[in-house]
Amino acid sequence: MTLTDPSSNDPTCRQAKTLLFCPTCEHESPADGDWIDDDSTARHRLLCPRCGDIVVDQAQL
Ligand SMILES: [Zn+2]
Repeated sequence: MTLTDPSSNDPTCRQAKTLLFCPTCEHESPADGDWIDDDSTARHRLLCPRCGDIVVDQAQL
């Protein structure tokens, strides 16, 4: 089993990733990093893995 990610060969994915910051504990991680997806809502909501605060809360398009 390898950890090869096919999308890493896509030039559009080589740009600097968007970093998100937790306003509460200042945890930082890429938008697709270790944030916790909150499935209990239809909204696009990401929770901080460190303090559990809401970092992203957007209506789904
Ligand atoms: Zn936090």
